[in-house]
Parts: sequence; C-alpha cells; structure tokens
Amino acid sequence: MNAVAHPSHVANASRAGALLTIDLDAIAANYRLLVERAGGAVVAGVMKADAYGLGMVRVAPALVHAGCRVFFTAHVDEGIHLRDIVPPDSTIYVLHGPPPGTAADFLEHGLTPVLNDPGQVREWSALCERLGRRLSAAVQVDSGMSRMGLSPADLDALGDPPNWLAAFEPVLLMSHLACADVPDHPMNERQRRRFDAIRAQFPAMPASLANSSAVFLGPDFHYDLARPGAALYGINPQPGHANPLRQAVSLDARIVQVRTIEAGDAVGYGARYVADGTRRIATIAIGYADGWQRALSGRGCAYIDGVRVPIAGTVSMDSITLDVTGMPEARLQPGMTVELLGPHQHVDVVAAEAGTIGYEVLTRMGNRFDRRYLGG
Ligand SMILES: *Cc1c(COP(=O)(O)O)cnc(C)c1O
Repeated sequence: MNAVAHPSHVANASRAGALLTIDLDAIAANYRLLVERAGGAVVAGVMKADAYGLGMVRVAPALVHAGCRVFFTAHVDEGIHLRDIVPPDSTIYVLHGPPPGTAADFLEHGLTPVLNDPGQVREWSALCERLGRRLSAAVQVDSGMSRMGLSPADLDALGDPPNWLAAFEPVLLMSHLACADVPDHPMNERQRRRFDAIRAQFPAMPASLANSSAVFLGPDFHYDLARPGAALYGINPQPGHANPLRQAVSLDARIVQVRTIEAGDAVGYGARYVADGTRRIATIAIGYADGWQRALSGRGCAYIDGVRVPIAGTVSMDSITLDVTGMPEARLQPGMTVELLGPHQHVDVVAAEAGTIGYEVLTRMGNRFDRRYLGG
C-alpha cells in the first residue's frame, strides 16, 4: 500500500483539532491508473459532494493537470462552482439534471444536464426550441437500479428516439450499475445486457456505464466514457482484492489530555467503558461532529507510531477517548497527534468498523479540520 507522506506527530502552530492531509499527486496517479485500465475510454472525474469531501477547489485542478476534461457533479450549484475552476473547454455533467424551471441556469454556466425523466427532456427541449439552438445533454436510462434515469415505461411514452432527441444534441447515453463492487454479481451482466438493448435504439450516441468498480469489470463495461469517483480518492473498487490505488487521505487528531484511571472507573457518555485495571486514557480533539462516527464507539482505533490504541467508550461530539496504556509518556503530550487515517489505517477499514463504506467516511469529514494539500 502506498501511503500518504505522514506528518510529524510533534505539535505545530495549528489550533485545529485534527489535520487532514490530501495527497493530490496520489489522486492524479489514481486518475492515470484508471485511464490505463479503462482501455481507451475517456475517463471523467466525479466531483460530487465537494470531491467526496476532499475539496473540489484543489482536486479538480490536479485532475485537469493529469489530463481530465470531463467532470460530473450531482447538483447544479456544484457544477456552477466547478465551472470557475476548470478550463472552459471542459465538460461538466450534472447528474441530477435540471430541477424544474432551472434549465436556463445550465446554459448560463456552461453545464450539460443529465436528463433523467420525460419532464427534464421536455424542459431541455423547450429551452432549445425557444433559443433555436441544439444544446448538449446526456440521457440517463435505468438499466435495473430503479434510482435515476428513464424507465422502460418512460422510453415507451417518449416514443421513437429520433423524434424526442431532435430538439437537443444528445452527447451521451448513460446508466449506472447497482452491484459493480461485487464482480460476479449477476446484476452486472443483467444491467449491461439491458443497457445494450436500450443502446440499440440510440445507435449514434456515445455510451457510459462504468463507475470506479466497473472500470475493473473488464472491457465489456468500459464503453466510451468511464465515470470514476471513489477510486480517484483511494477507495478500493474491488473489496476483498488488493487495492491497486494509492491512498489519498490521512487524518491526524490532537491529544487534548491524558489521565490515569483505576479498576472500576468509567469512561465517556453512558459509562460504557469500565476499566478492569489501571489504564491511561488519552482524549483527542475529534468527534462525530467531524464525521468520526458514533458507531465507532468501543470498536474503532487510532495508531500511535504504528501501535494500535483502541477507542475506549463512546465517541462524543468533539472528542474521543483512547486507551493508550503502555505508550511512552513522551509521546502522549497535549498537542501531539494520533493517526486516524494514514499508513496504518485505510479509510475502507474504518468504514467496515463503522458498518458503512469508505464513501461515507470521506464525505462526512467535517469542516473543522486544518487541511493540508500535498503535491498538485
Ligand atoms: C457517484 C456516481 C458515480 C461515481 O461512482 P464511484 O463508485 O464513486 O466511482 C458514477 N456515476 C453515477 C451516476 C454516480 O452517481
């Protein structure tokens, strides 16, 4: 595993409770690896939720530098923000399409909507007809996930594609997989076949089906454009297999206080941890308000110089208590940091402990951290 260069545990001038380090060179290297694996398909960068919590303002330029010119956001406001960051010749797709009445905002900000239902198709077509211009749009079809995109009934209702595609410039036909992270899940093949059947009605349109995980499902899933997000940020696209991507994030939280407790003493809300002997407890300045989830109470851990120190008791809003018994006192001074993400703890491991996925751990990271970017 290639780890993010790790900051010193010695206190620096920052007053923040934790230091989030984002390795832009790792993200760029991950982009290049995805380009290699996507076998000739264009590789876009998915920027929704502030680049999965890592900061679109810094991540997008790093991807541009690595050659990326196609981006996806979820919301129109994310796209408007991104438009100021990336070169004018970049394409920015907005996955949710235009909320009713907002089609003109897309035109004003140079955004390309993903049209997901007949209402969005009609609104985009009406704008084009009013302007006498065939503006670009992607069309999303539902191949089996039942979340977004034109359903089989919607396609029937719209009628022959040449008719309803006439008003605008259809530049991409896309769909999304439900189970791409489980390579042998039958849904993958089922959705791919369904997508191919729909594609036969839209013969001239470039196609896109692959998220991060699907890039690793082989050439049948690559089509013309891949849309990875998670893999750019180091999340393993194939859980259970070796992760080919570089870890892009490290998180180090400060020690606020250290104390000794004796057998029978309780720690934290609910007094859920009770010492069975003499223990050293360190309190660190991060909590569930910073995205370090309460589900990690009594389950998760941190690392001090590579030594595992378990969370003792309940995760609080702003602090977490660790059992640091046996660690050298010189390494437990207030202001020194412990590793929550880094060479010893991958985001996917924390996610598994919390009963969630790496995507959620990253996107929940709070805004109280001191952020540092490496490379780029
Ligand atoms: C979020 C999203 C992606 C990116 O998915 P990853 O698993 O993060 O690579 C691609 N396509 C659509 C439609 C999405 O919603």
